[in-house]
Amino acid sequence: MNTSLKLLLLIACLCGLNFTSAQQTRNVIWITYDGLRWQEVFQGIDSSLMVNETYTNQTAKLRNKFWDPDPGKRRQKLLPFFWEVIAGEGQLYGNRMHGNLVNVTNDQWFSYPGYNEILTGRADSSIQSNAKVWNKNTTLLEFANGQKGFRGKVAAFGSWDVFPYIINEARSGLPVNAGFEEAFWPRLSKRARFLNELQRQTPSPWTSVRLDVFTHHYAKEYLRRHRPRLLYIAYGETDDFAHDGDYDAYIEAAHRTDAFIRDLWNFVQSHPAYRNKTSLVISTDHGRGTLPVDHWRSHGTKIKGSDEIWIAILGPDSPALGELTSPGQLYQNQLAQTVARLLGLPYTVGGKWIETAFK
Ligand SMILES: [Zn+2]
Repeated sequence: MNTSLKLLLLIACLCGLNFTSAQQTRNVIWITYDGLRWQEVFQGIDSSLMVNETYTNQTAKLRNKFWDPDPGKRRQKLLPFFWEVIAGEGQLYGNRMHGNLVNVTNDQWFSYPGYNEILTGRADSSIQSNAKVWNKNTTLLEFANGQKGFRGKVAAFGSWDVFPYIINEARSGLPVNAGFEEAFWPRLSKRARFLNELQRQTPSPWTSVRLDVFTHHYAKEYLRRHRPRLLYIAYGETDDFAHDGDYDAYIEAAHRTDAFIRDLWNFVQSHPAYRNKTSLVISTDHGRGTLPVDHWRSHGTKIKGSDEIWIAILGPDSPALGELTSPGQLYQNQLAQTVARLLGLPYTVGGKWIETAFK
């Protein structure tokens, strides 16, 4: 064998190893909770907030539903899908009690910079507000949509009305259903039309964020009808209820979103196009504070700890490591390459994929 042929074979092997190894994942559902703290993910409801009458008016109800003196049982009551299914079959990164750390790399610690980092794989220091500015960066969603086998198979759903700008719907041409937008696709099912009617008739507590129940059911209906290979869903309630200072509602929203994710997983695992070939990648755009106690409501560089996040992964290509209990450090900018690698896409921007997410 001559040298150039050997070299060619070597390159072919390396490329194969990088992007087309025998993986089972053909589809990814990429999910974010807005501003859900790692503290609640790994320890359940916060005892100091549960008894704080400034932030909860339903202490007894909260206690009955979510309290247990053992943090391991408490977190299971709050996020049963995370702790019954993902902890058993998938991976949970970010329990800082074990020195397992996940941080953002952007220097802003709020939503637009966080979602830009998640979706592009790279922090952009020029993004310093949540204003509705078309993102000049290309997200993995936009990149994927230009790849063979993915055109028309990528979509995004979000509760916050800034997502069309973050994903640059105008340039990317991707379907982004966010804020109070209605189902937009052709030949709407009865169910989608009913969702549109309900959304019009349901008041939202906020002007720029809809209730997550609409985001969830629109996304699920789209999944059922259009079979996307990469579907991004951005749930939003947790952050808004936290800013409102309503701990009961923040906790109930986290619990509901966990059930939404279970609903997606059950759908995926019951559908021949998705079963055993779909991965879930779940994370958050930023953390929140803890001390003084009032800081749980907020985030940003003035709030210590709001750069601390978590990551959950579940799917056929990710070893069942459960909760990572050894020291480690991951970053928000690794999510895009991790999703890309699961899908076999040659996306090289930003932080490297999470090594342990692959068998
Ligand atoms: Zn916020």
